[in-house]
Amino acid sequence: MSYEEDDYLFISGIQHYAFCPRQWALIHIEAQWNENYLTTSGKILHVKAHDGDSVEKRGDIIIFRALKVCSVELGISGECDIVEFRKADNGISINGCDGLWVPYPVEYKRGKTKVDDCDRLQLCAQAVCLEEMLCTEIGSGALFYGEPRRRELVDFTPKLKTKLTDTVKSMHEMFSRKHTPNAEKGKRCQSCSIKELCLPRLGEKGKASVRRYMEAHLE
Ligand code: SF4
Repeated sequence: MSYEEDDYLFISGIQHYAFCPRQWALIHIEAQWNENYLTTSGKILHVKAHDGDSVEKRGDIIIFRALKVCSVELGISGECDIVEFRKADNGISINGCDGLWVPYPVEYKRGKTKVDDCDRLQLCAQAVCLEEMLCTEIGSGALFYGEPRRRELVDFTPKLKTKLTDTVKSMHEMFSRKHTPNAEKGKRCQSCSIKELCLPRLGEKGKASVRRYMEAHLE
């Protein structure tokens, strides 16, 4: 399977879809977005990650910032915060640099490490793009979380890659139908950046009505 460039979906949307398909649909299909403290602090962290030269060499590591990536097979594109190329015998060559280098993507995130795979899937998507573009294999990468200011190692296991493929396939399917699923109220709604747009209470069984919709908006 291969996708045309016009059909590529944003890699950054994968974490939205994994968090809640309705959230992703509201943002990426209906183009609705609500900026809040959490999304703004996340953006600041990314700007900091991109601060400095776009390419930098530190000993046996070459650091590329804001590297654009895509996958024809998955139909996704985006930008990596940081890709470290680490010197290793099983790596690939880089124009103008001696030796062989293994890519190691690093994604910056606000907050703490999560139980779910939302962030890991996004990082894995970057790795799969790099593998396809550079004809190589990438075993692992890292998520840098703003609160503990620490890296979490992520192994790109076959299980995580299969989950990524299934997730992206569902996203393409939903996008081609321009379908926004109904709200399913849950714990995640409390930390959702677009809960005021979504109004998840309206999706509660037996509670959807015009009166309830008007009441929620007037509130
Ligand atoms: S409020 Fe809840 S149901 Fe609505 S988009 Fe956010 S997480 Fe999904």
